[in-house]
Amino acid sequence: MTKVIPLSLQIILAVLTFVMPAAADDAKIKLLIIDGAANSPHDWAKMTAWYRSQLEKSGRFSVDVSTAPRWLAPQPQWDAWRPNFKNYQVVLSCYNGRMWPEPVWKSFLQYVQDGGGVVIVHCGNNSFPGYPEYDKMIGLGWRDDPAYGNRVTLDDGGKVTVHGPKQGPKGFVPGASHGDVHSYRVVIRDREHPITLGLPPVFMHAPDELYDGQRGPAINMHVLATAFSDRQTRGSGAHEPLLWWIPYGQGKVVTNLMGHVDLPAKGKVNAARCAAHTLLVLRACEWVATGKVTLPVPKNFPTEDKFVELPE
Ligand code: ZN
Repeated sequence: MTKVIPLSLQIILAVLTFVMPAAADDAKIKLLIIDGAANSPHDWAKMTAWYRSQLEKSGRFSVDVSTAPRWLAPQPQWDAWRPNFKNYQVVLSCYNGRMWPEPVWKSFLQYVQDGGGVVIVHCGNNSFPGYPEYDKMIGLGWRDDPAYGNRVTLDDGGKVTVHGPKQGPKGFVPGASHGDVHSYRVVIRDREHPITLGLPPVFMHAPDELYDGQRGPAINMHVLATAFSDRQTRGSGAHEPLLWWIPYGQGKVVTNLMGHVDLPAKGKVNAARCAAHTLLVLRACEWVATGKVTLPVPKNFPTEDKFVELPE
């Protein structure tokens, strides 16, 4: 005798089959990458592709990308570009280009104010000079003028000094700059924070720019990691903050100054592939979205003397 499945059960099974994959996806953190522009020689498309692939590979994130129109694109294209921030838990940006249209900018500020997470990587901190709300979020930005705002350095023991506009350590008062691209040691300054928990206290970072002399309001900056910017590599001679977070309204903003990626025609630097950098970006995305970090430190992780690059 053939068993007949009651129609009601058939419907339930059909619904379950339909719903279950979506339910699994719902457990993922909803992340939006904003891209479309960066100052030369940064390869923003390559940056997006890298972070997207690594975020998806981790299994923790569902990733969408919203690409801003070209700077001189016809106005209707800009009018049509309206990323819906509030659909996401975290916005990741290396964007450095034309200021966003006012409705986009306002909705971004509201999103963070209401608790949205933001992770700004490398050239993303070069963006939007003269916009105080952005400066508050990032704390320090790539600002050429030493008078633009405060400068932050740390001593060997981790003590933070905030220097006023036109001020700096030992009379060295630059605006934003970087020395030669080189591999350098990153020092974790807060080993209890979820983003840095379990990492070696010092690790070698893949060849990269080392931003120095960043300027801004630097209010409520929680410095997580620094690197010493050696004068021998044309740096500032100070411990420079490279990774920090700042509360903004109900939201959290993490800034990571590492991760330079060259356009193919300009060079070969691809610091985003550094295993430590990638983990720090992914963990920052997890943390600003949920307040927790689950991504483990992989076995093949940089040591004090050796950097590790992930395969492309
Ligand atoms: Zn760069």
